[in-house]
Amino acid sequence: MFTVLECVTQQHQSSIVLVAAAIALTGMFAFFHLMLRAEESAAERRRNWALIAAFAGGLSVWATHFVAMLAYEGTVAIGFDWLFTALSSALAVAGFRLALAIGLSRPRLLLGAAGLITMSVAVMHFVGMAGVRAAAQVRFDWLSIAVGAVVAFVMFAGALAAFMRLAGWRRILVPGSVAVIGICTLHFTTMSATILAPDPALPAVETGVFDRIWLTSAISAVTFLVLLVLAIAVVVDRYLVDLKGFANATLDGLALVQDGRIVEINTKFAQLCERREGDIVGLPPNLLLKANDGQPVDAARQRPVEATPQIGERHRIFELAVHTIDYGGRPCQVIAIRDLTEKRAAQRKVEYLARHDMLTGLTNRSMFQEALEEALTLSRETGEAFALLSLDLDRFKAVNDLFGHAEGDRVLRDVAEILRSAICEGDVVARLGGDEFIILARRVGGADAYGALAERILAIFRERMDLLADPTAVGVSIGIALSPKDGKDAETLMHSADVALYRAKNSGRGVHAFYDRTMDHEARERRQLENDLRQAIAREEFHLLFQPIQSIADETVVGYEALLRWDHPVRGNVSPDLFIPIAEESGIILSIGEWVLREACRQAAGWREPCKVAVNISAVQFRLPGLAFLVCTVLNETGLAPARLELEVTESALLKDRRATIETLRQLKAIGVQIVMDDFGTGYSSLSNLQAFPFDRLKIDRSFIASMQSDPNARAIVHAVVGLGRSLNLPVTAEGIETEEQYRMIVEEGCRHAQGFLLGRPGRGPLPLAPVADLPEPGVEDDTLARLLFSV
Ligand code: C2E
Ligand code: CA
Ligand code: CA
Repeated sequence: MFTVLECVTQQHQSSIVLVAAAIALTGMFAFFHLMLRAEESAAERRRNWALIAAFAGGLSVWATHFVAMLAYEGTVAIGFDWLFTALSSALAVAGFRLALAIGLSRPRLLLGAAGLITMSVAVMHFVGMAGVRAAAQVRFDWLSIAVGAVVAFVMFAGALAAFMRLAGWRRILVPGSVAVIGICTLHFTTMSATILAPDPALPAVETGVFDRIWLTSAISAVTFLVLLVLAIAVVVDRYLVDLKGFANATLDGLALVQDGRIVEINTKFAQLCERREGDIVGLPPNLLLKANDGQPVDAARQRPVEATPQIGERHRIFELAVHTIDYGGRPCQVIAIRDLTEKRAAQRKVEYLARHDMLTGLTNRSMFQEALEEALTLSRETGEAFALLSLDLDRFKAVNDLFGHAEGDRVLRDVAEILRSAICEGDVVARLGGDEFIILARRVGGADAYGALAERILAIFRERMDLLADPTAVGVSIGIALSPKDGKDAETLMHSADVALYRAKNSGRGVHAFYDRTMDHEARERRQLENDLRQAIAREEFHLLFQPIQSIADETVVGYEALLRWDHPVRGNVSPDLFIPIAEESGIILSIGEWVLREACRQAAGWREPCKVAVNISAVQFRLPGLAFLVCTVLNETGLAPARLELEVTESALLKDRRATIETLRQLKAIGVQIVMDDFGTGYSSLSNLQAFPFDRLKIDRSFIASMQSDPNARAIVHAVVGLGRSLNLPVTAEGIETEEQYRMIVEEGCRHAQGFLLGRPGRGPLPLAPVADLPEPGVEDDTLARLLFSV
């Protein structure tokens, strides 16, 4: 210890020793600062910082050693070999680098790192010493050197441990100071343990005082400079990385434009432009983006505008904002872009959904209302006329019920497609809900032009919706209201179109009708009739007529169909074809149906001949549970044998809730009543219905019989129906026989029963066993009069 102190105080020039110590201190601070930076950096940058730290550590140790050597004022003059001196510095740097490679990656190997640093300092020292030129023999006191090395090792280990444990500025200050003690200890113990024994045989080395001062200053200056640059690099790097990290943390793409060219961008900007960062810097921003306001991209703006990319996916939309800032002492533009593509798409979708029908993509009700209001305003201002075509699908409900909603949806989409194909640009087609569609059309040429449009639609329907080929085919009825003639406001106009549609549906469907004022009158009449119907049972305005059904084989009457008649106090005899649909729509049919059933059974029970009675049951009656119970009760009440009752059901009764319908039919069969399928041939998927439901008879619709003579198709259908009945073992009844010719034909075709005016008009029915007082005056109805009065 004493030798070491003596070596420092006696043999060294103290000012230069201080310089050496200052170099060591600065170097070590820089070294730990750089290590800190390495530790903070991402993996790929960490290696660079570790290398720089190794330079700072190694060079500062070397410089300390070298400057301290220069401070040496021993008895022997010494000089330096530059090659060894340079080599020693390289070794110091390499040693530090190796130590860091171990120590930084695994803290457990801290002692190894400390050992490596000690060794590199020692190796540097000895290689440096090997470069010392002096007229003396060099000997070493190895024990002192070993002690010095152990102390240095402990110091380095302590410094590294402190670096790993401490926080804040202590992480640099404490390990830096401790390491300097280690370096100095090792240097000065090794120096004092180095004995130079003068040897006159060796050539003397000349070193002047100025040489030494000059060298010390130069090395110190260079070392300080290097360390300073390193320290600045750390600060600048930290600042820039932090700044860049900050810029990258935003969701916006940022680019800095100076003199019309991009000088700096963040990662997001490169991503949005779909280019690498390096490819973008240097480009004028107009090459990358196009502002929608037509201005240059980097023109300063008050508000953000939309922009589109000039490269990559052009359909994308950006929001572009430009601000002027001071950068590098000069004003420049910061361009901020944000991807609005998805947001805009979502926005458009929401708007679209709010204005369109999801299923068909047609305009929806609310948007149609807007379009209609607009058209009305325009029509008021310019006198431009337009029309509303109200459309309703025929058979759609049945298709939906029978084939399921998916099929129903498909049909609606097909219909939308047909309507789209029929209209012109500027027309609006909307789906208002269910199977209701509406078209707002503008044509020159008045009513004729709109009639032509309606006919066009009907023609496409006939062509594309062929019921014979496709059981899901639907038809359409069209009502037309003209603006301003049929309504000056939206509500009136839509009402007029609906009234016209109602007329179209009632005049046979698959046609179009124009609104006229008398229709309103009809609608009012209808409401009036509905009111009257509600009172009819209580006022005893109903009675039944019975039409005979004849067996073809022996030409005897086998039964009678009960047909309802309404004697309206004002209108007289109202046709069931007119009031039954109203009763069905309003639900009044339930009480009327019950009355008919009870009355028919009551009368039939009193007939002299025990023949059958057929009662028409409406589809609406089937929809409610308890029909079988009602039938049972009525049979009990009236005492009619169940085998004498036939219930006539149309196919429309089978469309809703097939399972419940089958169940009701089974219950009815279990009671012992018979089920007849009425109006066969006018419904849908007739064959599947026949197989699924337990019928006893088929009644072929009278429309086929009526056209049989003139239309070979009708006859073919009759033929097919009888064949079908035969294969299913169902006897077929032909109704509506008016002529001998028709009768001959159905006999030829093989029908088993016949019914019609030729064989007997609806009348009083068979004579009762005993006179019944409360029966209305019987008589054959005057059908022609009723038809003339109430035809629609
Ligand atoms: P529908 O069940 O097909 O009844 C047969 C209809 O054909 C009756 O008309 C009858 O008068 C008529 N008819 C009979 N023979 C001939 C003929 O040779 N030529 C022509 N052109 N027609 C003939 P009606 O009585 O006017 O009844 C019309 C429809 O009203 C019935 O058709 C039936 O669907 C319904 N209906 C009648 N009474 C009732 C009832 O009590 N309940 C229910 N739910 N519906 C009924
Ligand atoms: Ca019938
Ligand atoms: Ca019928």
